[in-house]
Amino acid sequence: MSARPGVAYLVGAGPGDPALLTARALELLASADVVLHDRLIPAEALAGVRAGAEVVDVGKVGGGEQVPQQETTRLLVEHARAGRSVVRLKGGDPFVFGRGGEEAQALRAAGLAFEVVPGVTAGIAATAYAGIPVTQRGLASAVAFVTGHEDPAKEETQIDWPGLAGFPGTLVLYMGVRQLEQIAERLIAAGRDAREAAAIVMRGTFADQRSLRATLGTIAAAAADAGIRAPAVTVIGPVAALHDELAWLKAARPLGGVSVTVTRARAQAGTLATRLRALGASVVETPVIRIEPLAAELPAIAGYDLLCVTSPNGAELLLSGVRDARALAGPRIAALGPGTARALRAGGVAADVVPERAVAEALVEALEAVEVSRALVVRAEEARDVLPDALRARGAHVDVVALYRTVREPLGQDARAAALGVDYVTFASASAVRFFHEAAGSLDGPRIVSIGPVTSAELRRLGAEPHVEAAEHTPDGLVAALVADASH
Ligand code: SAH
Repeated sequence: MSARPGVAYLVGAGPGDPALLTARALELLASADVVLHDRLIPAEALAGVRAGAEVVDVGKVGGGEQVPQQETTRLLVEHARAGRSVVRLKGGDPFVFGRGGEEAQALRAAGLAFEVVPGVTAGIAATAYAGIPVTQRGLASAVAFVTGHEDPAKEETQIDWPGLAGFPGTLVLYMGVRQLEQIAERLIAAGRDAREAAAIVMRGTFADQRSLRATLGTIAAAAADAGIRAPAVTVIGPVAALHDELAWLKAARPLGGVSVTVTRARAQAGTLATRLRALGASVVETPVIRIEPLAAELPAIAGYDLLCVTSPNGAELLLSGVRDARALAGPRIAALGPGTARALRAGGVAADVVPERAVAEALVEALEAVEVSRALVVRAEEARDVLPDALRARGAHVDVVALYRTVREPLGQDARAAALGVDYVTFASASAVRFFHEAAGSLDGPRIVSIGPVTSAELRRLGAEPHVEAAEHTPDGLVAALVADASH
């Protein structure tokens, strides 16, 4: 159900991985008039906010001042009172160290309706992503969530350290790494065993999650040495040792912590980016090229005995340009590679000839055994002439129809810096190389991943040696090559 006017929603955004946003959170974000969000939320959470909604960042700005809690509460109350639907989006769960309870009290005092949408809290999620079950039969049958945002040196601290030291179960500390040394000392002084297992998880469930295992006595120094910073949760208790056995993230997300720039036409960048993100990469999308369909007249296809489709974009445009599927019934159909064959297949057309490698030379070779007298080639305006030339050399009559052209998409200053400040940059076509080079002014910095020899040749022409070339010239092949390189 959509967000209702005049209602405030206290919504948990989960710990960082956008896949851990709840269905209810997404539904409310998509329909609310106003979104007041913390800094520490998945960036992707705001992607689905409805156009025209007011989005206010009430979190800390660049390490600077946070919008005071009073001001946040005032905004929340005022928007709801004015009859708007308001989502107050908080990291993790709104009622776990999130001051959601205070905001609910203010809404109640103002006589306003509110709902609470729980979120996955960091103490459970960051630990789970580090392979640490916070309870485990025989090891821990209780778990305590502790906030350490209080200064432990403060006399009037509300935390009962001796009580916590004696707590019969797992301690999960939500706190800055700076306080960790003093907290560990206090727990040890109050009787907790310095040899007890401990672990710290930084930026849990984000693509660049880091974790570290030590003991209560050594965790603070180990974390400082490793450069662990906020946000982080610390787990103290025997379950922390299960990290050594159950850590699963590295295997499931081999690109965790790896940043990748994806340069493809806007229509296609999405799928490659999605695949890379699923493997844990943080992806910078620089759509430096865009597909511009051309108003091409398709000749009568029945007049040909071979129809060559040379790219997925070409396949899509061909299929959308054919008003009657029977028009494709005549000729043999050749696709330049598996990706193009897939795009045809998605439109209900099974290609007869598909080389494994998505390069024109491979298609020429695959067509050697096929008899051709009249061929139609549909392709990009700027495509190479290798295929039509080879067919003509065999005596065939060849017509070429350009269905689209790839055009430049300018890159702004910030986009350029972001695109080059990554670990890897991927190129899935020679034109993407050309346009990216033009837009970014350079290919220096990231390791360069090329989809195949034609793309690599273009890189070399511009003075850049690709570090990785995919063995299989498809988006899957590109991803596989990148993963192999990153895990060295
Ligand atoms: N409401 C939030 C907690 C807010 S307090 C929740 O339920 O998770 C902020 C503290 O939460 C941080 O200092 C850190 O200790 C912890 N935290 C939040 N997100 C985290 C993450 N992704 N990984 C590790 N710790 C996190």
